[in-house]
Amino acid sequence: MPEMKISFLGTGSGTSTNRAHTAMVYDCDDGTRLLIDTSSGNSVAKNGSELGIPVASYDQVLLSHHHPDHLSGLLFVQFVRALERQDAPALEVYLTEETLEWAQMMCTSSHLNVFEVDDTGAKNSDGRQVMNWNTVKSGQEVSLGPTTKASCFDADHISGAVGWRVESNGLAVVFSGDTRFNPNLVEASKGARLLIHEAFCTDEEAKRANHHGHATAGDAARSAAQSDVKELVLTHLDTVFHQDQQPLLDDAKKHYSGPISAAFDLRQITVDG
Ligand SMILES: [Zn+2]
Ligand SMILES: [Zn+2]
Repeated sequence: MPEMKISFLGTGSGTSTNRAHTAMVYDCDDGTRLLIDTSSGNSVAKNGSELGIPVASYDQVLLSHHHPDHLSGLLFVQFVRALERQDAPALEVYLTEETLEWAQMMCTSSHLNVFEVDDTGAKNSDGRQVMNWNTVKSGQEVSLGPTTKASCFDADHISGAVGWRVESNGLAVVFSGDTRFNPNLVEASKGARLLIHEAFCTDEEAKRANHHGHATAGDAARSAAQSDVKELVLTHLDTVFHQDQQPLLDDAKKHYSGPISAAFDLRQITVDG
């Protein structure tokens, strides 16, 4: 039976104060390791080290969108990785065209040992290629390992934002990215084992969530029910829910009868099927 281990390195919303920003690691059935979003600052390195997952172990990153709580940690990931692993090939970064524009601007403006940035990738001051850009379009499938593939779908958040479906040895996990309730996600999640969906707040605050381009816990659960996934995990939680996720779980249970839980930093789960 195929398995996938998921390590949550960051599970807070962009405005959260006591959780790291969004990042996850998927350890796939065929040995492929994927970093999904890069949080901000050094959270990927710090929380990864708590779980025995060094930055040097990443070869592939999937990005959902250019907001700094998802993208800006990339600077430190490539920096630490290149130092720790001098013989490493370039980090393969999968992102949309619009996210790439922002990633290029970020690299150019920060110069965190990124010396040269062009449309193919980035080089450091030694002239070494440290990142390769792989631009993707909605629905396009990319091969990431012997039995691992991924495809993105448009999110309803900001222009260029996507969610990701990753499938390894027939086991599919879908990550919503940041999004309002998203019919594209429902379609892309059909037959998936697990849906990891952002849940900014409760249904009572639906207007606020919608205004900021986010989903409520109820939206996440409706997506899980409509796509008939086997399990739902809520993430990207705002500060007010960091101690007590029950209001979110209570809302979600009204719409979806499968297992529901909330992510927290350093949580690890293994799904099979
Ligand atoms: Zn976010
Ligand atoms: Zn965002």
